[in-house]
Amino acid sequence: MSHTRRDFIKYVVSGSIASGCPVDMALIADPESKSPSPLVEGEHFDICHQVRDGHTFAKPDATRKVDVAIIGGGMAGLSAAYFLRGKDWLLLEKEDHFGGNAYQEEYQGQPYSTAAAYDFRGSHSEQLAREIGLNLLPIDMPDPTIDKGVYTPDTWRTGLSQLPYSKETIAGFKKFTEDILKMDPRKNMLELDSKPFTDITRAYAPEIAKWWDAYGPSNWGAFTEDTSAFIGVFDAQYLIKGEDSTRVILPGGLGCISHKLVEMMKPKYGERMLGGATVVSVVPHEDEVRVTYMHEDKLITVAAKVALVCSAKHIASRIVAGLPSDQKQAMRRTRYAPVPMINMIFDKPIYRKGYDNWCPGNSFTDFIVADWTIRNQPGYKPKYEILTFYSTLRESERSVLLDEDNCKAFAAKVLKEFQSLLPEFKVDPIEIHLYRRGHAMMMAVPGQFTKNRMIASRPMDRIFFGNSDSGGPESLSTEAVRISHAAAEWAELVLAGKPGAADLAHKALTEVAF
Ligand SMILES: Cc1cc2nc3c(=O)[nH]c(=O)nc-3n(C[C@H](O)[C@H](O)[C@H](O)COP(=O)(O)OP(=O)(O)OC[C@H]3O[C@@H](n4cnc5c(N)ncnc54)[C@H](O)[C@@H]3O)c2cc1C
Repeated sequence: MSHTRRDFIKYVVSGSIASGCPVDMALIADPESKSPSPLVEGEHFDICHQVRDGHTFAKPDATRKVDVAIIGGGMAGLSAAYFLRGKDWLLLEKEDHFGGNAYQEEYQGQPYSTAAAYDFRGSHSEQLAREIGLNLLPIDMPDPTIDKGVYTPDTWRTGLSQLPYSKETIAGFKKFTEDILKMDPRKNMLELDSKPFTDITRAYAPEIAKWWDAYGPSNWGAFTEDTSAFIGVFDAQYLIKGEDSTRVILPGGLGCISHKLVEMMKPKYGERMLGGATVVSVVPHEDEVRVTYMHEDKLITVAAKVALVCSAKHIASRIVAGLPSDQKQAMRRTRYAPVPMINMIFDKPIYRKGYDNWCPGNSFTDFIVADWTIRNQPGYKPKYEILTFYSTLRESERSVLLDEDNCKAFAAKVLKEFQSLLPEFKVDPIEIHLYRRGHAMMMAVPGQFTKNRMIASRPMDRIFFGNSDSGGPESLSTEAVRISHAAAEWAELVLAGKPGAADLAHKALTEVAF
């Protein structure tokens, strides 16, 4: 790549490191520091800093009464609003757009994902997609791996013998698959969820942990040493058995569902869907919940009969008053991975050999072809080819996201590594878009699914804790929708003064949805 050409590539940095902002200690500059605050596009740092610093916001008298306040307009909050349509709700979202981690952007009319990639036929989110008129299309191809300059199709089945490793290492891969298939993760869930996946992978060639060090961070935010052996074994079986054949999606990733939900609900319920509204406190008070939020520089309080807190738990732990201390601690123990998402836009065809391509040993883990499921439709002639790169960071690297120049340097590194994978990748994109999130994905660490989550997600009398981090075993849109379905039923029972709300919530948490 020539200097002139590289200088010409346009880098766009956007997005919300503030999605974890009210609580985002690791991301926020030391208050004593003399260095200037970073300038970050798309963020609402002021309020976040104040909440972090323990500032007590004024709580003005309530000026509005609603039946249900929904806090957070990601997949969980949006689907709760959808399930409660016709009821008296108010949806409050911190960012100026809805979607959270399932948010699509577009380049010249071509949608691409800024995080959540694909769904599964029959999942709760796919059923919701169908209900609102979206037909998610089959991916229809197992995942390839690209390593050592070699493209290997169907990594975990027919591709095993073609991996670019020594005979001994390939034999190790085969033994790993045989041993994994003999395990019963459902039966041994508690035991497996109490230990790291490395307890299993260390018996085999190091290339195996290296492969999972790409797959794990991209799928559940954790490297192999931090991954629960339960989720590791469970997902290894899923790949080896070919259960990934039920995957479906449209361009835009799962952002296509939140996009459609907003498009459908806005015309009718626009007044109840408030963007740029950061909730700073949720206070149970007698037979109501007082929810105070900052909107257009004003603090406003709404009195709700019930509240659905659909923001992630580390945020819930800071804004909800009166939490039992074990619950508050469990919320704060929940770990989240920082994820810069990089979309490269090319003005010529680059790659059509695989949908989700694993690239172990690089600063990115995998890349996805944005329009994969519609690429062969008759008459489809895209002007651009868009590749979406996943590049989960370690928690200790979170601060990289604070600085725009660091982000651009990181994106340039991803491009350089991509271009060295295969000769045909030596093409420059015309634009690179980096969307950053400081606390994007709940990490599937040992104990999170079977223990920590159960304490962190317990409902209070009039407050239900939604968000996909109330489910699991990994962060999934289907879990956001499943939990929201329960949240909507729970709200209706509480509002009607009927019994059974606590049991219903308990069932939603203990139900193993796989
Ligand atoms: C890189 C990546 C890849 C993924 N891939 C997949 C995939 O392939 N398939 C899949 O099923 N899932 C995937 N996921 C997971 C999926 O995106 C999430 O499980 C789902 O989108 C979570 O939705 P949610 O509404 O529960 O939470 P979030 O998306 O976290 O939404 C919470 C919302 O609350 C808002 N908020 C926070 N604080 C406040 C406040 N104080 N006041 C008001 N609003 C607030 C936030 O801005 C946000 O919009 C992926 C996630 C990531 C990050």
